[in-house]
Amino acid sequence: MVGSVPVGGGAPVTVQSMTTTKTADVEGTLAQIYSLKAAGADIVRCTCNEREAAEGLARIVPRSPVPIVADIHFHVEMALAALEAGVDCLRLNPGNLRKPEEIKLVARECKDRGVPVRIGVNAGSLDPRLYKKYGRATPEALVESAQTELGLFAEEGFDDVKISVKASNVPLMVEAYRRLAELTDRPLHLGVTEAGPPPGGLIKGTAGIATLLSEGIGDTIRYSLTADPVEEAKAGRTLLEALGLRERSNVDLIACPSCGRAEIDVYKVAQEAQAALEQREIPLQVAVMGCVVNGPGEARSADVGIAAGRHRGHLFIRGKIVRVVPEDEMVAALVDEAEKLVKEGVDARLAAADAGAEAEAEADRRALFEAKGADVNRSEARVELIGRRLSDGE
Ligand code: SF4
Repeated sequence: MVGSVPVGGGAPVTVQSMTTTKTADVEGTLAQIYSLKAAGADIVRCTCNEREAAEGLARIVPRSPVPIVADIHFHVEMALAALEAGVDCLRLNPGNLRKPEEIKLVARECKDRGVPVRIGVNAGSLDPRLYKKYGRATPEALVESAQTELGLFAEEGFDDVKISVKASNVPLMVEAYRRLAELTDRPLHLGVTEAGPPPGGLIKGTAGIATLLSEGIGDTIRYSLTADPVEEAKAGRTLLEALGLRERSNVDLIACPSCGRAEIDVYKVAQEAQAALEQREIPLQVAVMGCVVNGPGEARSADVGIAAGRHRGHLFIRGKIVRVVPEDEMVAALVDEAEKLVKEGVDARLAAADAGAEAEAEADRRALFEAKGADVNRSEARVELIGRRLSDGE
């Protein structure tokens, strides 16, 4: 347990992030913690690097809406001060806090207080002895670092531990976690460290974390992005929902990529819809489709959606047209229907569908089809042209 949040032992995979404020800035840090929680974080870490930070934690922890982990690197005094502040977990970096007697002292204190520890190994700050032994940060070196720390904890009879073996190199990180998962059944905290700014950082984080989660490895995750940490929490939550590991807590917007058939600016409408629905925390799958020819059918798995056709929007629930609205009211109508769907349920909203909507939509579809033809992207004409050119050349 990290405070009230279970980690491991079959509990749902949790999302973590870390504040970027000075921990001494109590109000600023709390404001960021609340934003992180709203974006999907279950647990938040704050640095405890100086006396003022520890004092800040003593004021933050009782007011935090999520459990707080104190991040400890070089100073054993900071670990002890964070425990005095009442934190829910410590993260210790074995590469930076290296004296066995200090590590064992922290283990004893944590054991007495019932506070868990994350052994947070990081390829970039590996114990110099392991660098020397292995020549570089290898999966074996990362795992050995974690095991050495576990051994010291075991000497004190302390094993309330989760482990991370992060690296910025994705294959290295994946291999290290795989090895670790074979050796221990302790909860694992997954992350690709120093992944960088989005979109590259998001891709690296997802490549590492999703690979491991799909193998059944990992109990809690953190994206390390060079960005507002709210983006980290959102990414973590979205990944878990996409993998079916957590229930949807907010909107899942699906949208077509747009093509020559599109009747609207799909990117703009999708962004407007995303912003409006996200703000209202509507936990539905919502579709924005650029045309009515393929849109409603292709998005029939969505709870609710809108497809554009001849300056009008076709509003549909699970693929069935319920209303036809003017183009400039599309987003408002979509949001309104989504809200009603959450309150009243699918059956009630289907029963409230406009009687003539299906017929009106069908007329729009036919008219659009006739106006633009079946081959709106002119693919067949192009194929024919290529054929002609090639035969001319023969
Ligand atoms: S829904 Fe229509 S506009 Fe969007 S990609 Fe499909 S055919 Fe193109």
